[in-house]
Parts: sequence; C-alpha cells; structure tokens
Amino acid sequence: MKVVLVPSASGVERSYHYLSSYVIDEVVAIDAGGLGFHGDLAGQGRVRHVFLTHTHLDHTASLPIFLENVYGVHPEGVVIHGSAAVLDCLQKDMFNDRMMPDFIRISRERTPPFLRLSLLEENRTVEVEGLRITPVGIDHVVPTFAFVIEGKQTAVAVVTDTAPTKAIWKRLERTPNLKGVFLEASFPNAMAALAEISGHLTSDQFHQEAAKVGSEVQVIAVHLKARTHDQTVAEVMGRGLPNIHIAEPGRVYEF
Ligand SMILES: [Zn+2]
Ligand SMILES: [Zn+2]
Repeated sequence: MKVVLVPSASGVERSYHYLSSYVIDEVVAIDAGGLGFHGDLAGQGRVRHVFLTHTHLDHTASLPIFLENVYGVHPEGVVIHGSAAVLDCLQKDMFNDRMMPDFIRISRERTPPFLRLSLLEENRTVEVEGLRITPVGIDHVVPTFAFVIEGKQTAVAVVTDTAPTKAIWKRLERTPNLKGVFLEASFPNAMAALAEISGHLTSDQFHQEAAKVGSEVQVIAVHLKARTHDQTVAEVMGRGLPNIHIAEPGRVYEF
C-alpha cells in the first residue's frame, strides 16, 4: 500500500504540515486539506473517494477546488464519505451557495454530478478500490473519525485530530499486518494547555499513544503546528526510537 501526505507548503523548502490530506494508492484520499491545491489534474483525477476525518478547514479547505478540478472525470462523481455530522456541515457551512455553490443540490439535479455523499457509521467497514476502510471515533472538539485502512497484505491507520484516546488503539491491537500509523503530534510539551482545550496531542502524549502499538509498527508524526514545528520535531525524535518518524510531505510511504 502506498501512502502520500499531500504537500501543502508551497514556495518554501521547509516541509510544514499546513494542511492535512493523504492519498492511498493514488485513488483514495483521506481528508482534502490540500488535495485540490497540489499536483496536476491527472493525479487529482485518479482520486475517486474522499474520506473525511472531520470538517476543520485544515482537513477540508481544498475540497470544493478539488471537486471543480476533477468535474466530469468520473461519470458518477467523486464519492465523499463522512459521518452524519460531517455531511451536515458540508451542506450547511461549505456548499451553501455563500461559501461555495451548492454542489450537493447541483449534483442531484444534473449529470455528471460533482459528488455523491456516503454516510459513514462508526466501526462499519466500507470497501472501495480494493481497500477496507473502517472509521473509529477519536476525541477532538468536533466528531472525528480515525481510519483503519486494510489492503490485501498490509494495514495502516490515520489517527488525527485527537486528544489521548482509547478505541482506535483497541481496534489496532486486532488489526493483522498493521505496518504504519500516521499519528498527530500537534504541539510541543510547553503548549499542553492549548493542546488540551483544542483536543490535540503534545509530544509526550504522542509518545504515550504511539507506545500502544508494537515497536514493529512505524509511527509517523503528522499535523505539527508550523509555528512550533522545530521544537515538536526535537521532542518527538529526541527519544531515538527507531520506529518513530516525522512525516515528509510528498514522500511515497510504502507498506
Ligand atoms: Zn481539527
Ligand atoms: Zn487539523
């Protein structure tokens, strides 16, 4: 399985994680923070399914642009998968004719549609493009899903955004062939108070969560706040653990 954290910092050498989106095997996206802002139309056009963790803009900002970019490529439209809370927010707050034309209504009235909506339920596995994708609730300030993504031989998980949490780690304990976890590490330890009120992890909490999977699983830190990037990198990497990494946007991770 191939996983890419879509680059979102353009015009700088530093690999900041400004926005969150991941492309799996070129055809499935997890989140759409920078999906529609990066790469050529051919690459974006290969993505047929977008699974949304939650609605915060760093995870959804480019979704309308992406849908415009790939309009007409797939006769049935791109499928947007989200919880009831996510789909409701897309309708009321994004595709409301004020922030963006109502692609949801237009898609009901015209062909080809921009999109189709698909309701996700916690712990109910969805099969697309040869992948089995299971949403598991995590603890953020709005309803948020982590995703377990199982291919034929390997499995990975995307766990962001969240405070310390339990259910996903229980699910991953019984996930055969788990090879990688993309886990948020938003704040350095000095900003623990902000992490707590915003439902995120500090570097120490990242390590506590990462220790819930075996050391044979690669845990890749994502969602580092740009302002405190260097401090968080130092704290995450400072323990010298061989299975802990900082995500490099644009790199193809193969599992
Ligand atoms: Zn968030
Ligand atoms: Zn976020």
